[in-house]
Amino acid sequence: MNTQYVLPTYGRAPITLVEGNGSLVRDSAGREYVDFAAGIATCSLGHCNPVVVNALCAQAHKLMHCSNLYGIGQQGELAELLVTRCFVYPGRVFFCNSGAEANDGIIKTARRFGHRRPAADGSPRYEVITFLKSFHGRTLGSMAATGQDKIKKEFDPMLHGFRHVPFNDIDALEAAIDGRTAAILLEAVQGEGGVNPATPAFLRAVARLCREHDLLLMMDEVQCGFGRCGAMFGWQAVAPELRPDCVSCAKGIAGGFPMGCFFVSDRAYDEAGTALSSIMDAGSHGSTFGGTPLACATAEATVKEILRLRLPERAAQLGDWIRAEILGWHLPAVENVRGLGLLLGVALKPGLASAAGDAAPSAYVVGLLREKGLLTVAAGPDTVRIVPALTLPKDIARRGLDILHDVLKALS
Ligand SMILES: *Cc1c(COP(=O)(O)O)cnc(C)c1O
Repeated sequence: MNTQYVLPTYGRAPITLVEGNGSLVRDSAGREYVDFAAGIATCSLGHCNPVVVNALCAQAHKLMHCSNLYGIGQQGELAELLVTRCFVYPGRVFFCNSGAEANDGIIKTARRFGHRRPAADGSPRYEVITFLKSFHGRTLGSMAATGQDKIKKEFDPMLHGFRHVPFNDIDALEAAIDGRTAAILLEAVQGEGGVNPATPAFLRAVARLCREHDLLLMMDEVQCGFGRCGAMFGWQAVAPELRPDCVSCAKGIAGGFPMGCFFVSDRAYDEAGTALSSIMDAGSHGSTFGGTPLACATAEATVKEILRLRLPERAAQLGDWIRAEILGWHLPAVENVRGLGLLLGVALKPGLASAAGDAAPSAYVVGLLREKGLLTVAAGPDTVRIVPALTLPKDIARRGLDILHDVLKALS
């Protein structure tokens, strides 16, 4: 690509993708790749899925955008589908355009909640506890929420009001809660930070601490959501009985079309029985492009297809099979395979990818795989992430696994 006029914020691979079909993509030189990246867990139904393309084109011919100054029928329909068929407990949805925006929205909800439910001395609670190695996005709010220093470098001062504690450490979490705490925000499986699943005991302890200390339980389902982890939402694959107060979504929700949303539960937050969702009232939040007819129609078609094809179950089965295949190779380069469903991380043995030089071993191996015709994504310094379309056909999965095997074997 011509990079001369584009800000160099990305470490781009030296290929340009020009077309895709299902789980195969082609670059500008005509080379074909097996796609285990799926636009970083966004193209959940594969590339150019006809159901998604048809919904998008049909709506584009009718009305793309009209503003939230007016009613948008597609928003109402999509919100009903999400609440009744995906979350499956009462609540309401706000539509935005990305994961970072969705997280900013739930952080704002936590701050409103902290005003309505102040500390014992009457001062508003505002602090959101998040976890080391978490990733919540790149806006000023979601960056401050993220538990990784590398994305914050020279962007200080950070937005005030976050505290980061080790993941899966109940004692550290309990010790971090004080009179300022308003919410706990976490991923069911930390994606970007290395594919680290929350243990069921930990996730249940987070929910218990939220109940005991009157905090909001907030799940970042941007990467884990919409079938990826083997259930509709990641937390449902870990501790299905939980009913988070706020949930942020994006990535897979619209099959690769940009869309995000956040859900706020209707549960009562005070003695009068006021619904939590009511605290984000008229004028409290907004987005020019959030929830356009075009985005909503595309998301509705995608989510209906995920439900119709039972893709969460398929992700669970296919993910188990891929994990078993990789572990069955018994290759010295592989430390273990972490994750849930089709959010998998192949953890590389420390020191093995010494040829990487200055590059992180994960980035080095992702590059080798790409050269052999397989697209994957690095997650942290030593984990190769596998996040294919939920519709990945088994024969194409086989082709991808053969490439993975050969590259990891040569490294061993
Ligand atoms: C990708 C991601 C985000 C940020 O989403 P954007 O759409 O890039 O803003 C937030 N949280 C998690 C868990 C993610 O994986």
